[in-house]
Amino acid sequence: MKKKIKCPQCGKLTFWEENPYRPFCSERCKLIDLGHWLSEEYRIRVPADGVEEVHQEEEK
Ligand SMILES: [Zn+2]
Repeated sequence: MKKKIKCPQCGKLTFWEENPYRPFCSERCKLIDLGHWLSEEYRIRVPADGVEEVHQEEEK
């Protein structure tokens, strides 16, 4: 069973294995995230565990 992860950048589901860009879904998302970090100059600190709350709308 493959482990699924959610891209922190775009929220798209992707596989952990076979993914050189993890935890992102693609190189693009990885670069976007990196760009954010660099532009913010690490002023914003993320929680140590890096857990983000995800709110999903329930499908009815
Ligand atoms: Zn992504």
